[in-house]
Amino acid sequence: MAEILYLVIPCYNEEEMLPITAKAIMKKMDTLIGEGKISPKSKVMLVDDGSKDKTWEVIEKLHGLAQTDIFTGIKLSRNRGHQNALLAGLMTARNYADIMISMDADLQDDINAIDGMLEKRAEGCEIVYGVRSSRETDTAFKRNTARAYYKVLEMMGVEITYDHADYRLMSKRAVDALADFKEVNLFLRGMVPMVGFKSDIVKYERNERVAGESKYPLKKMLAFAIEGITSLSVKPIRFITALGVIIFVVSILMLMYFLIDKAFGNTERGWASTIVSIWAIGGLQMLAIGVIGEYIGKIYLETKARPKFIIDINLEEK
Ligand code: UDP
Ligand code: MG
Repeated sequence: MAEILYLVIPCYNEEEMLPITAKAIMKKMDTLIGEGKISPKSKVMLVDDGSKDKTWEVIEKLHGLAQTDIFTGIKLSRNRGHQNALLAGLMTARNYADIMISMDADLQDDINAIDGMLEKRAEGCEIVYGVRSSRETDTAFKRNTARAYYKVLEMMGVEITYDHADYRLMSKRAVDALADFKEVNLFLRGMVPMVGFKSDIVKYERNERVAGESKYPLKKMLAFAIEGITSLSVKPIRFITALGVIIFVVSILMLMYFLIDKAFGNTERGWASTIVSIWAIGGLQMLAIGVIGEYIGKIYLETKARPKFIIDINLEEK
């Protein structure tokens, strides 16, 4: 028996893009159902992440389409960001689905990769990661920063799949396991590998966004990058500790040098060295406090254990 697939798609201000995406996906789902690769009960779960435009109206319209009942959706009570919206979708869809595939609303992830994912699933995989085979459609800036970032993450001891965004298949079993991760600060592509189980990758070409604009401006990208490091690794704190030790040792050596120098009668000293060291130490201390503060802030937010999302409407329950 073919399994029930739920495609989970977070949408934020995607009124322009959604009709185009829906059309392409509807065709794809029909084909997959026709080929018997997925159950006819399969659906597309559109998550409205508190959009300010008509996204929810579009979702409701798709849900009400006479010629298909493939579209369903949930509406979050407000904008919570891509990661939370995705999690909300997965946590809702697991009540109805055997397998879930998460993807973006902008068709940048090639929907034809779904076939490959389903094949891996048939081989017994619980998680299948979609991996970009090239990044040609990205700007050189995004490509290079991404590469550097993966390197940094690796240095921090984080297990991550290169060039994998959040396009992936997960079985209900894997999503149930993910539900046990109670952290509030989400970096899903770093968390999912911790779930374990048999997993594999499927390569695909990433397309350009067809309509609408990226919801990830540089500032958000940076915040997300820091989130990735601090929520998965404590190495930055250790690094600073090590740096502190080194600087302390160096300063002791310098002190000894000056004392010996003075013993030989060289008392004429410029103030430059003094000022420079004060600034250097001051800067380092501030950096250290900043890094520690980042973690304390995280602890603060985690202990509050606020809900990661609140669902306003679930079309599946109507
Ligand atoms: N998104 C979301 N909430 C947000 C921002 C983005 O649900 O606060 C969705 C967005 O609608 C899209 C996906 O997350 O489906 C990825 O966003 P986008 O394509 O803008 O990011 P990029 O591909 O440029 O990294
Ligand atoms: Mg995109």
